[in-house]
Amino acid sequence: MDLQRLVVDESVSTLFPPGVLLDELNDTPIETTVFDESVDRLSPDQGVVTFDYHEAFLDSGWVHCVLAGVDQFPFERFQDESTPLTNSTGIHGDAIGETVAGYVLAFARRLHQHIGNQQRRDWSQPDWDEAWTVDGETACVVGLGSLGRGIVDRLTGLGLDVVGVRRTPTPEPGVEEVYTPDDLLEAVSEARFVVLAVPLTDRTRGMVDGETFAAMDDDAYVINVGRGGVVDQAALVTALEDDLIAGAALDVFETEPLPDASPLWGMDDVIVSPHCGAFTRDYCNHVAALVDENVSRIRDGDDLVNRVV
Ligand code: NAD
Repeated sequence: MDLQRLVVDESVSTLFPPGVLLDELNDTPIETTVFDESVDRLSPDQGVVTFDYHEAFLDSGWVHCVLAGVDQFPFERFQDESTPLTNSTGIHGDAIGETVAGYVLAFARRLHQHIGNQQRRDWSQPDWDEAWTVDGETACVVGLGSLGRGIVDRLTGLGLDVVGVRRTPTPEPGVEEVYTPDDLLEAVSEARFVVLAVPLTDRTRGMVDGETFAAMDDDAYVINVGRGGVVDQAALVTALEDDLIAGAALDVFETEPLPDASPLWGMDDVIVSPHCGAFTRDYCNHVAALVDENVSRIRDGDDLVNRVV
């Protein structure tokens, strides 16, 4: 591929201003601009950096998504058009790891309740047996990729024992036992926290359902930082209403933004965050490093990193 130009789609502004990425790509040896749909016609000598998918991108020579999850991209179309698609897997472990540690500590130390009470100027101390410490508790991390790694590091650092689930049960440092998805119910049964960090695929869609919540302890929490579709959200609401589980911290949802009418907004032991668990002011630098690397590889005729299609 003779790559001459790189265009940054406005949709990246969900994560950072396009101009900041252009500044970061200053040393890239090709022209870089913001994509202007009304003027620009894409061709195979151009690459695209984007958050959203647009059909027009199939005419380019290469598409890089600034997310790790590319479930909204039609892989078959990319294959048919021989347009390579790369993603940003590998850059989110630290931020997501800290977000998950934050949820875990909020539930144990009841911080989410204090914040809620503060909004109402309500000086309510927790009951004597409400707050607890996480040392020695167990977490089950479902998905041991780059997110899973960042989560395992933070949770073991807080003194939790960690088990994990992934497709092949190969050992993982810091993870006491690795289960396969077939043994998900056994894996979650002893965990105080079940943390979901898998991509949305045909196999993971709805993998956490009513049966999973029934297998969890009634004092356990589910944390979803993967994709909303991994959880059967109606079954989650029922499990929370029926006290099958103690609570949930959710960064991702079946429908985003989470609709006003969702009961999840108003539940006491539910933390809702607006799909921002990976946000960090360094996000843009990390994307730029990946893009730079692949620009060099294309020019040298080497294989792309993080190639999905
Ligand atoms: P990754 O490719 O490094 O890791 C994904 C892991 O999930 C792999 O180890 C894979 O083997 C495992 N996996 C796949 N299917 C599985 C299954 N059926 N059961 C158990 N494990 C399975 O990706 P990553 O960077 O860790 O990101 C994972 C996903 O998290 C992304 O695809 C994206 O959807 C989501 N994500 C969300 C945010 C956020 O802002 N909340 C940020 C980054 C990524």
